[in-house]
Amino acid sequence: MTDERKSRLYVAASWSLWPMIFVAGLTGAGFAFRTQTPLLWFNVVYLATVAAIATFERLMPYEKQWLQRDGETFNDIAHTLLNKGGVQIAAAIGVSAPMAIATVVQPSLAVSEIWPVEWPLALQVVLGLIIAEFGLYVAHRAAHEWLTLWRFHALHHSVERLWVVNTGRFHIIDSLIKIAFSQIPLYLMGAPLTVFLWIGAVTAFIGLLTHCNIDVRTGPLDWVFSTPRLHRWHHSKVLAEGNTNYGENLVLWDQIFGTYFNPARRPPVEIGISGRIAEGFIEQLVQPFSSKGFRAILGRRPDTREPAVPEAGSPEAK
Ligand SMILES: [Zn+2]
Ligand SMILES: [Zn+2]
Repeated sequence: MTDERKSRLYVAASWSLWPMIFVAGLTGAGFAFRTQTPLLWFNVVYLATVAAIATFERLMPYEKQWLQRDGETFNDIAHTLLNKGGVQIAAAIGVSAPMAIATVVQPSLAVSEIWPVEWPLALQVVLGLIIAEFGLYVAHRAAHEWLTLWRFHALHHSVERLWVVNTGRFHIIDSLIKIAFSQIPLYLMGAPLTVFLWIGAVTAFIGLLTHCNIDVRTGPLDWVFSTPRLHRWHHSKVLAEGNTNYGENLVLWDQIFGTYFNPARRPPVEIGISGRIAEGFIEQLVQPFSSKGFRAILGRRPDTREPAVPEAGSPEAK
């Protein structure tokens, strides 16, 4: 293969991988939802997607530096399993907490019937995504602008590399708040279980792609979806860059509320926070609950109320 052909192939792959992986994931989810054990098969599709993304991260990394080990892989996976698997234990073995919650709780919670069940399913899913995204936007933005919540969300931003495995690295409290904000309105409106399942699927695959370290090009997709490019800005240490792009699936609310950020230059390689996150999994879970841990997360000295350095990613640095 000549260099020119190789580079053409590379460019073609760069443009096609994001939509291809997204559509393949949704197609797999559609297959899973038609089986007798939808959660089990959905999780098979999810893990296959993780494997595919991890392979392309090796073949065409966006940032070679992010291929280096950071000693956090165990913690990343443990937080992912606690978030996404823990809630499902009652329902099934699996990966998607929103889906399990929907399966268990949704049929008994609907208090109104304003949901447009007569619409085509695809339109219902789009409507559901827009409504859920508003809750996600509010919860995510509050987690950045309000120290009480930043103490939980800082764990997600403490990563110094972005790759598929740290997609699910969220403190369990952070996750539960987001699930509540995004799903309760849909329950109250009487959205059917199928809509929850498809929102869960879209969130799962966009989430995996958002953190991927593949050199994808997304172009106009950046105007609609939360793409890797936009989310790399969100992980910037520079507050003016990091406190943007809060959207989890769609960036509609960022555009409406003026937090959409997508300049033409390359997003930063150096990411993270200036506070300190504990090293072990259990320590990371309990850290936000002690005043000493909270001070460390904020980058404050242990024995004073003064910040040691202004904290990236918190309101204090403004
Ligand atoms: Zn964030
Ligand atoms: Zn992230």
